[in-house]
Amino acid sequence: MDTKLWDLLPPACLAKSTLWIGGEWYEAADSGTFAVSSPIDDSALLLASRAQAADVDRAVRAAGAAAASWANNGSMRAGVMRSIADEIRGHAQELGVIETLDSGRPISETAGASIEHAAGLFDYYAGLADKLHGSSVPMGNEATAIVEREPFGVIGAISAWNYPLENAATKIAPIIACGNTMVLKPAEQSPLVTLLLAQLMQKAGLPDGVANIITGFGPEVGTPLITHPLVSKISFTGSTATGRRVAAAAGEALKSVVLELGGKSPMLVFGDADLSRAASAAVFSAFKNAGQTCTSCARVLVVRPILDHFTALCRAAAENLRVGDPFDPTTQIGPIISAKQLARVRQLMSGLGRAQDCHPGFHPVPGGHFFPPTIVTKFAPDSDFARQEIFGPVMALHAFDTDEEAWQLANDTEYGLAASVWTSSIHRAEQARRLLVSGIVWINCVHTLSAGTPLGGHKASGIGSEYGLEAAEQYMKTKTTVTMSKGWNSPFA
Ligand code: NAD
Repeated sequence: MDTKLWDLLPPACLAKSTLWIGGEWYEAADSGTFAVSSPIDDSALLLASRAQAADVDRAVRAAGAAAASWANNGSMRAGVMRSIADEIRGHAQELGVIETLDSGRPISETAGASIEHAAGLFDYYAGLADKLHGSSVPMGNEATAIVEREPFGVIGAISAWNYPLENAATKIAPIIACGNTMVLKPAEQSPLVTLLLAQLMQKAGLPDGVANIITGFGPEVGTPLITHPLVSKISFTGSTATGRRVAAAAGEALKSVVLELGGKSPMLVFGDADLSRAASAAVFSAFKNAGQTCTSCARVLVVRPILDHFTALCRAAAENLRVGDPFDPTTQIGPIISAKQLARVRQLMSGLGRAQDCHPGFHPVPGGHFFPPTIVTKFAPDSDFARQEIFGPVMALHAFDTDEEAWQLANDTEYGLAASVWTSSIHRAEQARRLLVSGIVWINCVHTLSAGTPLGGHKASGIGSEYGLEAAEQYMKTKTTVTMSKGWNSPFA
């Protein structure tokens, strides 16, 4: 490891102080640590602080102390958030290197599109921060209701490992734009880039305590964060199984939740589609970030007469994907995040009784958690493979015979996060929009998103939205004040 790389991270992080609380770096109160390793070759990267309830309490109190002044100054919020966007763009290479090292995502993405996406979120919500105001409701001649949107105060956020910088920006930008302060726990597998983001936010002038970052494990941080009396709302991104536990704990404490959870998203390919574009879209969606994308449309439903041809197109495109060292700028697919996740992918694939596809472009780094892009055409419809989110580079192709069967198969899942539909028929496109139970429906495109495009799961894929005005709405609460100009007379009088 090039020691200069560590100059990118706050120096305190090297001394195991990875809790960023009130603008200072701390060790865990009990000095506990955990090892963070790289999925590229399993090399040790850092000993991070392993936060416990006492550390959560300290972070929440720091957020609480910063809440009032942050809530009261929308134009300051807007200015600071624009500076954060500038810092992100100005440190694209450093952020990319750290994220690639920690998550295994190719450097072409982490120092490229990811940077613009993360910076764009701060810009987008900066535009909102100084425009949040209420409305008034006339109530006859003598009374007026003023309806205001207030911040919640301190929000607890917990995030997933798959797109660490973008996941952090997706939580932080709308939460702080609306005048809240927060405590964020990044995933234990890939916390490093969020620590670098903390340093950049501080440099941009974010007041101490507005955002606090604590590293650690799920239940050890999650439970005290969710149940802390000063935390008013929870925003969670992760698996549906964990989301259910988070929602249960928040429900017990009567706190509202935003849940961005898993998916098993379909891609539907009709005979009238541009098949070459559809096949590239299927391959991109199934294999980008080694399949570790919540909106991956890796469940590909193809009308039967073109299934063999379409499968051949996908195989040809997949064989040529460059899989290997994510620091090579030509690499398209890196490793899977951990040995545990790789084992899960293998376990879901076991018993399928088929050889893996041939991959001239598959060059795994020794010791890394690599899996070749794999296309599966024969499996039992009720198997775990067919029903569960795989979160690995695996595409499954199914046939359908009629349009009705296509909609029915697409919706036949507990999830409802995303869907991609390929057709040249405007009628089918309209049917897809009406009939698919999904937070987002892409017609003749896939993964086309912007900071302003709401994305939220239906069914077991979640509650609430990320991005757009919808995300901001859920981080504000409504207060109504009714004022009478004349004296109020009791009906009992
Ligand atoms: P995970 O549920 O295992 O962990 C997510 C986060 O929850 C981590 O920070 C973890 O430490 C924490 N956690 C674990 N147990 C907890 C508990 N009991 N209480 C509180 N927090 C707890 O998920 P993962 O494996 O990190 O991420 C992959 C999942 O995330 C996939 O299902 C993917 O689809 C989903 N995801 C969804 C979106 C979306 O926008 N819908 C985006 C990214 C990822």
